[in-house]
Amino acid sequence: MAVPKTERPARNRLAAILHQLCPRCFTGKVFQGIVDMNERCLVCGLRFERESGYFTGAMYISYLISLVLLFAIFGVVWLLLPHDSLFDIGLLCLVSGLVYLPLVPLVFRYSRILWMHLDRKLDPDVDDPGL
Ligand SMILES: [Zn+2]
Repeated sequence: MAVPKTERPARNRLAAILHQLCPRCFTGKVFQGIVDMNERCLVCGLRFERESGYFTGAMYISYLISLVLLFAIFGVVWLLLPHDSLFDIGLLCLVSGLVYLPLVPLVFRYSRILWMHLDRKLDPDVDDPGL
């Protein structure tokens, strides 16, 4: 299948992950909207959801990414908020959650991208024509 002129393949898997590209050809875009995925790669035809429930593994990755982000945000907010008698752990959690909230679509996308690349790296299924 010919590569459209507007799409250039990533040099390696890490670049493909960062640009959220197909785990097989490193060229086709996986997402068409903020959280809407293409069913197949527009370049090589790879079906992204290998089987029903395929993205359950992405939930574990999402959990790990969220944990790291929330702890980092929590630490920064803890350093920035004044520590006086009104200091409240609930307020700290609330502010951290509010700062994290806009990052949810990004976490969703990268957890799926990382899951697909990890899965394709460990089980490439070279005979899969992508049908
Ligand atoms: Zn592809």
